[in-house]
Amino acid sequence: MPAAVAVPWAGWSPRARREAARIVDAACVRRWLTEVAARLAAERDFLTQLDAAIGDADHGVNMHRGFTAVMARVGAVEEATGGQLLKLAGRTFVSTVGGAAGPLYGTAFLQAGEALGDVERFGPKLLLDAMRAALEGVQRVGAAAPGDKTMVDALTPALSAYELELRMGGSLETAVSGAREAAAEGMRATIPLQARKGRASYLGPRSVGHQDPGATSTALMFAALEQAVLADRSQRFAGGARRRVSGP
Ligand code: ADP
Ligand code: MG
Repeated sequence: MPAAVAVPWAGWSPRARREAARIVDAACVRRWLTEVAARLAAERDFLTQLDAAIGDADHGVNMHRGFTAVMARVGAVEEATGGQLLKLAGRTFVSTVGGAAGPLYGTAFLQAGEALGDVERFGPKLLLDAMRAALEGVQRVGAAAPGDKTMVDALTPALSAYELELRMGGSLETAVSGAREAAAEGMRATIPLQARKGRASYLGPRSVGHQDPGATSTALMFAALEQAVLADRSQRFAGGARRRVSGP
């Protein structure tokens, strides 16, 4: 079970809470992208350091360059659904980031955007579908399985934790919180693994003992997702806005 999160809307009725907790919209997706970009800027050197140990010392630089381009394009678009924003992010990533991470994350964002379609607002179930589509995209392009010491090692447990939390009757907040925790755990669990995919696999047993850079950037994205969702909820409840969910 993920740790309980402080909720500023604790005084609201359960029904109002459930209703608001089911909504993710373009503003929340935008907030997530913005938060990812800020964290990547802050962690750029750390990610590059991790990649220096078992790769070619460019993961932080790659991710930061990609997300700077993503934010420039997303910022230039006023009217777009969450799905459209993710597809834009994916196309931008593919065209501006080289190496393994460009096509992998690019495909993940594109697939997630496709899964969301053009709905204006969606609930946690459709978000799960989008995350599943992202993982499928990563595995289609990179053919990595859990345990290969890649971003898949953070993404897979994050999805499982998110789904489990929903199945147990959890809310969007507790689900993204569980996903963040599981992604971080998956990230740390890459340390003792020997890489079987990507540049790090060239090192063979020498890749053991190092945290995978891609799993680390994926964990960062789930931390950003939790923060975006919680910030969105606080604002929604503070403003008293009640919007209805239009999708599943
Ligand atoms: P490159 O390895 O081309 O320099 P990056 O340094 O930007 O690209 O990204 C490296 C990260 O990409 C790795 O830490 C790993 O998590 C991820 N990665 C590499 N190959 C694969 C793959 N086949 N499937 C999934 N992720 C991969
Ligand atoms: Mg690299």
